[in-house]
Amino acid sequence: MTNKKGFTTKSLHTELPQKDAYNALHMPVYDGVAFEFDTAEDIRDSFEGKVFAHAYSRTTNPTVAYFEQKLLNLTGAHAVMALSSGMAAISNALLALVEKGGNIVSSNHLFGHTYALLKETLPAWGIEVRFVDMSDLEQVRNNIDEKTRVLFFETITNPQLEILDIAQISHLAHENNVVVVADSTITPPYVFESAKFGVDVEVMSATKFMSGGAAAVGGVVIDNGLFDWSKVPALETWYDKFEKNALALRIRKEIFRHLGGCMTAHTAHYLNMGLDILALRVDRCVENCLVLGEFFGKHPKVKEVTYPGLKDNAYYELNQKQFSGKPGAVMTIDLESKEKCFSFFNQLKLVRRATNLNDNKTLIIHPESTIYCEFDTEEKKEMGIRDTMMRISVGIEDVEDLIQDFNQALELI
Ligand code: PLP
Repeated sequence: MTNKKGFTTKSLHTELPQKDAYNALHMPVYDGVAFEFDTAEDIRDSFEGKVFAHAYSRTTNPTVAYFEQKLLNLTGAHAVMALSSGMAAISNALLALVEKGGNIVSSNHLFGHTYALLKETLPAWGIEVRFVDMSDLEQVRNNIDEKTRVLFFETITNPQLEILDIAQISHLAHENNVVVVADSTITPPYVFESAKFGVDVEVMSATKFMSGGAAAVGGVVIDNGLFDWSKVPALETWYDKFEKNALALRIRKEIFRHLGGCMTAHTAHYLNMGLDILALRVDRCVENCLVLGEFFGKHPKVKEVTYPGLKDNAYYELNQKQFSGKPGAVMTIDLESKEKCFSFFNQLKLVRRATNLNDNKTLIIHPESTIYCEFDTEEKKEMGIRDTMMRISVGIEDVEDLIQDFNQALELI
């Protein structure tokens, strides 16, 4: 397969690693745990890493490896690691890159559980996290010191839907020998070529767009092969042995293996199918978002509509430049008050009240009273979480049906 083919063609035609015993066209689901070796020498060589062979599904599995291969074909990255969830991808990548005593400079606008990981869990393990307003380059620069190992942000923040100039941030990080780690959950590889913008490591929740419509929980770490791992203290000994593969192998052979965050073969099966139709679903969702954005924009009861694909959005240009004008399918609307939000929410008949993104069905949530309920008022303010805001993850329904549902609910409040 040449790399010149389109995203969907490449995904559909990623070759199986070897001819299947029954000529199956799809990669089969290898649900078993252990793989047998013919001789003591073979199993020894596999454990010593001299030859590659699947041995035990917590470390590698053929169906999962095929999913990783598909993503490698699609991204042209150096290495891809599949994990049990988006949170596993984020935590494993950061734990592999930052040693005890090192620090991370992170955007303060993050998905709630990521914020909690950085605020509570990583500091307890000896990793300091400095939250900053990443759109303020001076603030970012002032927080970087000789112990800073990672700059962390979301390509489009969830749920504030802010976008950074990623090339600019990457430049600043690299001037200071700091690794750029971006969570690109809202902008999967079909719309965002992270290497072009200097992102060293991409982490994402495969649960969202990739899973094919909320079919399974999974995560991905992508090493674009841009950073010199010899310059990262946490990877020093790994670099001596594995050079360019230092990060991938530290994650695979230590962090991920010891913490046990493996993806199951069944999850990989769903993700393999999800990738094949990812582009179709993203295109349809973006179309729906644009139509809904126009509808909400004109409705007198909607105080604000936020979607970076809309021409009057502050991030419209950055969206064109970085995400080919396809900024995922999450939008927010603000109503007059929290009470109005709840009342609107409860009137919806078609749109589902649920906490996920990029299901094929349209979902709605009130972030302030749910995902962010454990944070105090000051923290919510710092994270840009308003109680008048609702997050809508737009699905692939016929858009007229969505408009009809949103419209009837707005009429009733
Ligand atoms: N990153 C972002 C931006 C998310 O929205 C989420 C989940 O909603 C995650 C990470 C965590 O992903 P997962 O639920 O697969 O662990």
